[in-house]
Amino acid sequence: MPSKCQGMTKSILEKGKKMLKNSYSPYSEFQVGCVAVTHDGQEFAGCNIENTSYSLTVCAEVSAISNMVSSGHTSIQAIFIFSNSEQFVTPCGACRQTIAEFADHDIPVYLVNQKNEIRKHQLSLLIPHAFDLELQQ
Ligand SMILES: [Zn+2]
Repeated sequence: MPSKCQGMTKSILEKGKKMLKNSYSPYSEFQVGCVAVTHDGQEFAGCNIENTSYSLTVCAEVSAISNMVSSGHTSIQAIFIFSNSEQFVTPCGACRQTIAEFADHDIPVYLVNQKNEIRKHQLSLLIPHAFDLELQQ
């Protein structure tokens, strides 16, 4: 069952909601926001950025992680994905691999719907066999 308080601070909620407002999604009108929380407690937010050339669209997760990495951080302890939907929106396959690049595979992935209800998943269950060079050797 989703809850309204699981693991999320007021700061994360405010950042996530701001990202939904900042979402550039004129084509799908499907706003997504993301807040990546680093191991030292910093929060990096991003939103989806669509493009008239659809394949150039950037997901909110990649936007937040780009913000995080370009700010000098590479270690995610938790990630929150916000949507303007009543449904819980899971990250796409590419985003699951991108999150796995910067996180232990057992980190929580929190999905937040428009009612601020939260569903918690474990990254390793969303992408059980993530590509990992260390595992390829
Ligand atoms: Zn994605």
